[in-house]
Formats: sequence, structure tokens, C-alpha cells
Amino acid sequence: MKILVLNCGSSSLKYQLFDMTDESVLAKGLVERIGIQGSRIKHNRASDEPTIRETDIPDHTFAIKLVLEMLLDSKSGVLKSLDELGAVGHRVVHGGEKNDRSVLVDESVIKDIEDCTYLAPLHNPANLMGIRAMESAMPGVPNAAVFDTAFHQTMPPKAYLYGIPYRYYQKDKVRRYSFHGTSHAYVSSRAAVLLGKPAESLRIITCHLGNGSSITAVDRGKSVDSSLGMGTTPGILMGTRCGDVDASVILYLLEREGDPKRVSDIIHKESGLLGISGISSDLRDVQDAALKGDSRAMLASDVLCESVKKYIASYAAVMSGVDAIVFTAGIGENSDYTRREIVRGLEFMGVRIDDSKNDGLRGKEAFINADDSKVKIMVVPTNEELMIARDTMRLAGK
Ligand code: ADP
Repeated sequence: MKILVLNCGSSSLKYQLFDMTDESVLAKGLVERIGIQGSRIKHNRASDEPTIRETDIPDHTFAIKLVLEMLLDSKSGVLKSLDELGAVGHRVVHGGEKNDRSVLVDESVIKDIEDCTYLAPLHNPANLMGIRAMESAMPGVPNAAVFDTAFHQTMPPKAYLYGIPYRYYQKDKVRRYSFHGTSHAYVSSRAAVLLGKPAESLRIITCHLGNGSSITAVDRGKSVDSSLGMGTTPGILMGTRCGDVDASVILYLLEREGDPKRVSDIIHKESGLLGISGISSDLRDVQDAALKGDSRAMLASDVLCESVKKYIASYAAVMSGVDAIVFTAGIGENSDYTRREIVRGLEFMGVRIDDSKNDGLRGKEAFINADDSKVKIMVVPTNEELMIARDTMRLAGK
């Protein structure tokens, strides 16, 4: 079966086409600047040079029409007919409390996604546009919704409740949801395979460190705590998001700026690595500047590593121990310096890195712990698209 995976943002659309007989990627691409001047599609077939087409792309329906054209194109295409497409998997950011697993889309699922829009106002409407556009482009082809929040729905109330009056949870479902669930699910199950043990026997801490980051405690295959919250600013320091801050800081900013929208921009877009360093939200730029002696850049990198270290230690406590720490996403997969600094000082809990295995390791599955380390330390590149394709195939095959 061939499965198309779509990740729709408000002005962009990423896609990958999988052949599920061997889980290979036949083609992938990106539509950028939907509804904005300068829109274009960049399409890659397996190892070919990308095909770029610049054209007016007014909306998601048109963007999807272009993607399907590219997939069928006699030169850049990979399909002879759209009949080869078995199903479409959509990344959907918020599934609320109701959706604890991936589902085939029907009108009630669409309503659920709409109902969760107040929790993910930027993402859910864009995800829905992708679903609607696909339904009209290919009626009858099953669409599956794979939620970023679903994996974390196994968190117990003691992990997801905030210490504010309970009525806000009862009425408005104000609670921790956390995100990146598809990535945490993929890397934790892949880590179990690499460890040669059933996931149900392992306590794993997964560190998804990218522009947006989250740490998850995966206790015997289930998420039991995760560092993002109702929104996407808590937890560790991110590219432009602030990570954990005391509520008084937010109240102070509100009073000082006098405008909730302005404060929202500050904590989402102007904080994190960028906010502390004043240089960039990109860790490579920050660490380059730190190497040249910039003290605020060094501080930003230190705050990031310290915040991850604290989560690892606290999640080990939550699970009464840890068998493996897994690093993934842009920073986790590529930054040997950051991985080393994070685990430095955790020897007291049986975590010992082997520098010769860690140094220079980028984007590959590997164990980077010392042979005598009680806790395994691993790098596992994430693959959210493959996870979405697998779920979609399972649902569409039923
Ligand atoms: P997103 O959350 O947008 O998917 P990514 O997972 O691609 O982000 O991660 C982007 C981050 O990874 C950036 O901060 C980037 O600097 C960092 N990164 C990528 N490669 C390296 C590297 N070699 N060293 C340090 N940081 C890196």
C-alpha cells in the first residue's frame, strides 16, 4: 500500500509518500508561502535533484492539487495513477482528552479537531484545511488523523493537573497535554528494539531537542510525564520559547507591557536561546558565538543543558529509575557538545557517557554510553512521518 503523509501548517505543507511494502520514501516535498506572494513547491523523488515550481498557490486545496500533480508527473512523479494511493495520514497537533490514539477521519473526528482549536489556535485549523482539501481532491480515500498529543494521554492526573482551582480543569480542560507525542512514541519504541527488550519492561527518558523541545518519561511503553503543557512554552529552554518560568514573571510582563498579545509574542518568539543570547534561536549560531567568547551565548547554552539535566533527574525519580536516555531531533541527534554537557554530573545515578562514541556522532542510531554505564545513552533519529504512515496503514487496512 502507498501512503501519503501530510503535515499542514497555516502557510506551508510538508508531504512524504511511502511505499509500505518496505517502508521506503518514494518522494517528499514542501509547499511554501501558501496564500502569500512568492509561493512555490519543492518536490524530491528519492535521490533525484529537487524539482521547484514557483506559482501562485492561493490555498491548501490548490496546494494539494499541485502535490498530486507532482506525484503523477511523467518526469518527477512516482505514481501512474492516484488509484495507487491507499490512504492519507495527517499530522494533527491537538486531539484533546478524547483522542488517545490515531483515528480514521469522519465528521465526528472533524468536530473533535474543531473543538480543540482553542487549545491549538495556530495548528488545528491548518491541519483541518489539509484534511478538507484532501477529502475534496480524493473522495473515498481514507484519511487518518495522527495526534501530537495522543501518546501523552496515558499521563496520570497527578502529572497533568496544574495547581489552580479544579473547576478550570472541569470546565475548560485546562491541564498539561504536551506535544511531540509521535516522536516520543517512535524513538522510545525504536530504542526498545535496539536494546533487544520489550518496551513494556523499560523505563526510558526521551529528549526531543529541536527548535521546539520536550522531554518525556516513558514508563514501560507509556508516557507518564512530559515537559510541554497546555501550551508550548513550558519545560526546557527552546529556540525562541522560554521554558519553565514562574507565573509571577508572566504577571509582571503583563503589567509591564499591558498587552497579552505582546506578552505572548515575548514568551513564544523572543525568548529561549534567542532571548538570552541576543544572537540567534539556532543552537549552532549560539554555540559558535560561545566558542568565540560571547558570554551571553555561553549562558544560553548552559541554561539549555541545565534545564534538560533537571528534567532527566526528575523523570528518573518519577519512574523510580531509568534504563535508557534517548536523544533525538535536530539538537539531540547532532550536537555532541550538548549531549555531553547534559549528562555530565549524572554519574551518581549510573549515567556515564563515552566521549569517544559521542564525539562527532551525527544523525545516526548509536549507543554513546560507557560500557560500565548502568543507564544506556542513545541517539535515535526521529521519524514522525514513518510513524504516521504506519498508523495510517494499520487503520486503513482494517
Ligand atoms: P524543529 O523543531 O524546527 O523540527 P529541528 O529538530 O530541525 O527543529 O532542530 C533544529 C535545531 O537543531 C536548531 O537549533 C539547530 O541549530 C540544531 N542543530 C542542528 N544541527 C546541529 C549541530 N550540528 N550542532 C548543534 N545544533 C544543531
